[in-house]
Amino acid sequence: MPDETLLSRVSRYHFLSGNKRESETFWDLFGTAPFMFGILPKQLETLAERLPGDAGSNLQELINMNTAFPAYRPFSGLAIDSAIARDSLGVARVPRREGLVHQKGKFCLACIQHDMLNLGHAYMHRAHQLPGVSACWRHGFLLSSACPKCSHPFVRSTKLLSNFLDDCACGWNALAPVNSTEASDIDKNYALFSYEVLQFNLPAISWQTLSSCYRRQSVKKGYGRGELINKAKLMQSIEQTYGEESLSRIDGAYAAGKRHQWIRFTTTRGQIDMPLARHILICHHLFGDADTLQQRLREEFQLGRHAKTVAPVKTQPDVKNKRTAFRAKIRMLLEAKPASGVDYMWEHQYQATRWLIENDKAWLQSVLSGSEQSVIRKEPTADPRDKSLADTISTNIDGLYEISKHQKRANITNILGLLPTAAVRLTTTKRKERFPLVSHQLELHMESRWHFLLRRIVWAVAEMARLNLPPTSTSHDMLSTAPRQAWVAIVNFFEWDLEKLTCTDLDPQQLLKLTGVTRQWNGPPGHDMPMGGHAYQEQIQAQRERLS
Ligand SMILES: [Zn+2]
Ligand SMILES: [Zn+2]
Repeated sequence: MPDETLLSRVSRYHFLSGNKRESETFWDLFGTAPFMFGILPKQLETLAERLPGDAGSNLQELINMNTAFPAYRPFSGLAIDSAIARDSLGVARVPRREGLVHQKGKFCLACIQHDMLNLGHAYMHRAHQLPGVSACWRHGFLLSSACPKCSHPFVRSTKLLSNFLDDCACGWNALAPVNSTEASDIDKNYALFSYEVLQFNLPAISWQTLSSCYRRQSVKKGYGRGELINKAKLMQSIEQTYGEESLSRIDGAYAAGKRHQWIRFTTTRGQIDMPLARHILICHHLFGDADTLQQRLREEFQLGRHAKTVAPVKTQPDVKNKRTAFRAKIRMLLEAKPASGVDYMWEHQYQATRWLIENDKAWLQSVLSGSEQSVIRKEPTADPRDKSLADTISTNIDGLYEISKHQKRANITNILGLLPTAAVRLTTTKRKERFPLVSHQLELHMESRWHFLLRRIVWAVAEMARLNLPPTSTSHDMLSTAPRQAWVAIVNFFEWDLEKLTCTDLDPQQLLKLTGVTRQWNGPPGHDMPMGGHAYQEQIQAQRERLS
């Protein structure tokens, strides 16, 4: 739903999921017991991981679409060009006291009706919840937080929202005609401006940029003393425009009479230390609409960039990160369009090209002339014996796969044991370089653990037939060292009729062939667990303990 809060979206999910208890929905979505939604609940990351698609972009989307954070972001004091993306979430940058402001939940009764009739669901609007907002930006009515008839609150601590299709306990229905009170123009304007700020999704801006933007605009609007801001004059103008009543409604500190240093453009710990409502109010007064605010912030940002004639001393990891990131960008471009020149780079990766020319020119030149790639592409030379050795494996491999009492697993050591030379006993990478054909034969014929188990069990079945033993697990354990679990799993999986199989002489190769599995078989589905050995014993022990 457009401009919907997270609480509302989760509540609708609960309604549509058919979950009986709200806690089930919280466990489904967040993997935790019910909690109260702050501005940026940390459980959002779990939800982002559980939704289909990329967790990172899910998180961004949830934050931008369903939380009030986009209204906080421009005032959070974070730099716009902060290279690390996760910083832009600025999770730590929402002052704690703000989180408690809109616990109550504010609704426009006209919006509830409108949404029910036009969208099929009433829901909780994000813009209505912003601090200081008391009117609906669309209808101009005062917002309410409780049933108009019995004053039962719409939002209660960790409870989800009830859907407005059901009557309130007092019998009030959301579709009943409403007598909503019209808000004052001041409150309506403030609500509309807050809504715009939220929808504009403004980027994070460093406090220096924000602060000088406020100062410049104040001077421009006549609240200056030379180049500096005249706070008293600005304050006076704000009080005249909004009036004491509205100001008190929007700003709690103002209502409480704390008006000393009410306007603060200095910072505490990299943040202009004012509550969001006051930022929005001052912005509304100074810029008038969100469009102008955005425009002025953009200009200020550009000015700030040009003013930095002396580049700040860069720390070592920063340069390293930039180099890696910019090199990667150029490589990506080259991969998409090989043999492109520096002009192409300027056009498509201005920032990266500029940085690399200034700081890493040799690399950029080498990569553009193709010499970096030629280094990578240097073909290693194969050993002249490669072909004949590969042929030897191919001719003799079936011998390794014979079914006998002393059969060996066709692993690397045993396959290479077929060769008259130890020259191939190298690391995998080296072997692939020097003996590519031998390496290919190895990949082709290497036996999986489960295929080897199968061969041992096939041999055991053939022995039962030959020795006239009853075809049971006990006989298997006597004949073979393969784990009994493997025996049971294989007999069940291939649906072997053991009585029938063992009543005549049995060709083990034929039985193996009938299974139809490859030499790289991963075992019956669900059995890709460790078998035998220490790990297996531990697992079995754990299972027994759980059962007992
Ligand atoms: Zn409304
Ligand atoms: Zn009621």
